[in-house]
Amino acid sequence: MLNCDLDMSKPFDIEVERLTGGASYLTVAGGVDAGQRGTFFLETFGCQMNDHDSEKVAGLLHARGYQQVETPEAASLILYNTCSIREKAAQKVFSRLGEYREKQSEGKVIGVLGCVAQQEGEEIFKRAPWVSLVCGSASYSKLPGMLAQLEAGNARVTGLDTDTDETFETEVTRRNNPWRAYLTIIEGCDKACSYCVVPFTRGPERSRASDSILREVRQLAELGYSEVQLLGQTVNSYADPTARKMRFSELLLAVAEVRGIRRVRFTTSHPSDFTPDIVEAIEREPKICDHVHLPVQSGSTRVLRAMQRTYSREEYLEKIALMRGANKPIGITTDIIVGFPGETEAEFEETLSLLEEVQYDSMFSFKYSPRPNTPSLSMSDSISEEEKSRRLAILQEKQREIQAAKNARLVGEQFEVLVSGKSRRENQWSGYTTAHRMINFASQESALLGTYVQVRVTGAGPNSLVGEHAV
Ligand code: SF4
Repeated sequence: MLNCDLDMSKPFDIEVERLTGGASYLTVAGGVDAGQRGTFFLETFGCQMNDHDSEKVAGLLHARGYQQVETPEAASLILYNTCSIREKAAQKVFSRLGEYREKQSEGKVIGVLGCVAQQEGEEIFKRAPWVSLVCGSASYSKLPGMLAQLEAGNARVTGLDTDTDETFETEVTRRNNPWRAYLTIIEGCDKACSYCVVPFTRGPERSRASDSILREVRQLAELGYSEVQLLGQTVNSYADPTARKMRFSELLLAVAEVRGIRRVRFTTSHPSDFTPDIVEAIEREPKICDHVHLPVQSGSTRVLRAMQRTYSREEYLEKIALMRGANKPIGITTDIIVGFPGETEAEFEETLSLLEEVQYDSMFSFKYSPRPNTPSLSMSDSISEEEKSRRLAILQEKQREIQAAKNARLVGEQFEVLVSGKSRRENQWSGYTTAHRMINFASQESALLGTYVQVRVTGAGPNSLVGEHAV
């Protein structure tokens, strides 16, 4: 997640796709006559924002009369929604596109979406001339027009403009999870972290109108969704463009008020925009989940300045104090980068002491590596790979110890869990607490998926809890 705060939450939900066999759920009614225009295969990489973008792209295609299929072989349109978080992302995309080369000669149309599309632009046509569509996420609102051009036989269609004030809204969204719905409320990013490519690939911050968000939440509740997860690269920088001017905390409360909604999550929060009213909303409304993902990136103020993170160690710790002072425990998770250019041993130790002080519930950690189109590219990446690996291992071991001790203290406690996974082993289930702790638990019940149950914790490891259904 070197480039994007949002990626930190990625490993949280992996069971459902397995459970549903990748099935999609049409969540907003639309004029659907699938299969009329052809079939599409859509492969997605990256963060929850990318997953949700793909859900909307799939909905848009479905509404135009396309039918989603499970393999590129069965598709007339192959789309590849890319992510530039990982190292050598572009190289990997071109290598995958190489596999699609033959497909174009079979009459299939190939398209590249997302961050690598934005980053590489028309270079993609040069290196993979069999590609017909290159579209960055800031141009998704123009996709209907681009699809019309493709359908008219245009062999080169691009959407690479990032100078936009539009958000990507669709009549139909094909969601991949039947209980928890993602909802992007703010796109792009106006921060300028020196290591991050998101402002370049996703464009400036654009917030979605609060009335449109609430309308969609009501529709989702009617369709049976009980958990919504509000998404944004900096979700708490939300700025309602309507005359209502709802604050982010007011939006959280309004979403929680929708009948049928039992849990409201949000990710990712930026420390500079994390204000006391957000904690007050969590305290006041039980439906707002007791979990905040607040990336710190480094425990050293000097490194934070070099990263252009817009807060100091002390300012960050004030935000933590707000949460620790709440009238109920709030799970706090974070992201950390080690080996940023010029990070000294003493500065790395400041990160270790921050871990000790905050006692995070979970952490996503990475070695710094330079990315194209980022300000830190011009800084000397002076710390060796071996040293970065050493720091990362020390950091992860420290966090492991913290998590093991924290989780051990939860043995004997009881939590409400939204059941989202079923093991192949008989009577074994899994789900998440409101604080986003995963619990694997035993139950004799046979139909728990999507329900809320009470689970008593009987054992703990550093990364998860085990328990039993408390009836
Ligand atoms: S705040 Fe914006 S620029 Fe900074 S890491 Fe997150 S997405 Fe990137």
